[in-house]
Amino acid sequence: MKKREFWFVVGSQFLYGPEVLETVAARAEKMAAALSEVLPYPLVYKVTAKTNKEIADVVKEANYRDECAGIVTWCHTFSPSKMWINGLASLQKPYCHLATQYNKEIPNDEIDMDFMNLNQAAHGDREHGFIAARLRLPRKVIAGYWQDEKVHKRLADWMKAAVGVAVSKEMKVMRFGDNMREVAVTEGDKVEVQTKLGWQVNTWAVGDLVKEMGKVSEAEIDALVAEYETAYDVATDNTAAIRYQAKEEIAMKKMLDREGCRAFTNTFQDLYGMEQLPGLASQHLMAQGYGYGGEGDWKVSAMTAILKAMGEGGNGASGFMEDYTYHLVEGQEYSLGAHMLEVCPSLAAGKPRIETHHLGIGMNEKDPARLVFEGKAGKGIVVSLIDMGGRLRLIVQDIEAVKPILPMPNLPVARVMWRALPDLTTGVECWIIAGGAHHTVLSYDVTAEQMRDWARMMDIEFVHIGADTTPEKLEEELLVKDLVWKLK
Ligand code: MN
Repeated sequence: MKKREFWFVVGSQFLYGPEVLETVAARAEKMAAALSEVLPYPLVYKVTAKTNKEIADVVKEANYRDECAGIVTWCHTFSPSKMWINGLASLQKPYCHLATQYNKEIPNDEIDMDFMNLNQAAHGDREHGFIAARLRLPRKVIAGYWQDEKVHKRLADWMKAAVGVAVSKEMKVMRFGDNMREVAVTEGDKVEVQTKLGWQVNTWAVGDLVKEMGKVSEAEIDALVAEYETAYDVATDNTAAIRYQAKEEIAMKKMLDREGCRAFTNTFQDLYGMEQLPGLASQHLMAQGYGYGGEGDWKVSAMTAILKAMGEGGNGASGFMEDYTYHLVEGQEYSLGAHMLEVCPSLAAGKPRIETHHLGIGMNEKDPARLVFEGKAGKGIVVSLIDMGGRLRLIVQDIEAVKPILPMPNLPVARVMWRALPDLTTGVECWIIAGGAHHTVLSYDVTAEQMRDWARMMDIEFVHIGADTTPEKLEEELLVKDLVWKLK
């Protein structure tokens, strides 16, 4: 994982005299240090800015420094915002305006005009907010006391979304072969995506992977199989299949790391020279934070890697998912999600089992080994990025995952069961109206608010389907957005 940090830029002006400015700087430094203790990334105090040049300089440096994943601004005192225009207009990093103040309470006895001059965030932050609104800057506004846990949680969530932006801009996707034939939703404009999101999406021949597999040693396979045996329960006698998956994983990982790729795709229609579609191999790579998309779906693959990076510890509980089939019994309406093999074990409720089964789809000569498990219960989201022609739309739906209500003993793949909000059938209607794909990233870790923040920072359309969404409201929203995004 790369070292990342955020910069704390505090606004003021010379009007108050050196004593006030020293107090502001000392407090800002103290706040940044205290917040760094509780936030997932350090918040580094940079400057109490008093001039146009100080702001332009810190922004220039923030743009240039790779480790800076975003800036957090705050105005302890009043900071005239014309001073901020040149700097903010050239800002290329995520931007959060923390509207807070140093003191929690108004001190009844102490409060006098000196106190008022020093503690002016209530109007300083409004002047600061105006200029970002006027400049139409994408930003996150978080208001509240800086020592409150709620504020910490929201700042932490935003930081993780901003890290998702940095990961997106560095994203390289390795496609083994092309997309599944004739499928529409997995297509997209790679030039547009690279311009907008930064992704480098390129193809490698399956034959190159087969060649790489030929170079994998038995000792390397032994070591990885030992790792599998620690992490998972082995529920098959077919050790050859497990060893074959290990060989696939090692070869894919070498190619991915050599090219600096954090995500990959493949398709069952192109297994040229391979005995089995990678199942366990892809699942174990996902567990390590790599993104994956089936059937050549490079958009969902990159999104999987990004959501993982936005999650807890930089590799959260997010994975590639596909809506398979519904349970439509009244009062028990659920989606059953799975894939033919490749469900990430970060979604598992218990210890996954390694099993081998026949896979009828594709040209598998041998039965592929795969991890089988039940998904966790809990609140989550499903995410789909689609190409609308001329723009990208990110669709996020809130879901409530449950322990699968049926054991399904003959289903040979990992499975997750959930109810889409507002309810299964309305949720399905909304998803279909918005054009959401059958492939998604399912996450127990990243929230809809974080995805909204990410979409705003990436400057793409965002559609949220939640408890209050109705097909009627959604259709109106999409109509308006269609016009807006055509004008943009
Ligand atoms: Mn699929």
